[in-house]
Amino acid sequence: MKTFIVDSMLGKLATWLRLTGHDAMYSTVIHDDEFLRIAIDTGGILLTSDEELYHRGVDAGVDTMLVRGSVDEEVASVFLKYEIEPYADASISRCTKCNGALEHINKEDKERIKGLVMDQTYEHYDEFWLCKYCKSVYFKGGQWTNIDAYMIRIRELMDNF
Ligand SMILES: [Zn+2]
Repeated sequence: MKTFIVDSMLGKLATWLRLTGHDAMYSTVIHDDEFLRIAIDTGGILLTSDEELYHRGVDAGVDTMLVRGSVDEEVASVFLKYEIEPYADASISRCTKCNGALEHINKEDKERIKGLVMDQTYEHYDEFWLCKYCKSVYFKGGQWTNIDAYMIRIRELMDNF
């Protein structure tokens, strides 16, 4: 799994990197200088839609990619370049909200997420993933059907790039 530093214009891309299990640092309040500094400090890959930041990254010796196009094109081009499989699963995903690692919760310790999801959801599922930081809870409900469909679309785009 790779570490990415994602600029403030590329929020949806950051979400898809997290869903496919990658460490994607993203913020809307961080200045370009800070993105660059974090990329240098962590050795992460800098993804930016800003040409100036792209050149600064390259000049600083950071693995930097200038990301352009629609969201679908952004995702497909980054996945292609960094050889990321368009496959998302709760068991490999990071928290889409805060980038935290997820902890697997099975039927035996289900009690731990009581009150963090709707009662109906709690009753219906026996397997959950809990973010250790922000306490968001994930489960393989309807949301994953949409995610799977989107990953198929990205795979098609990658094949035809
Ligand atoms: Zn979280």
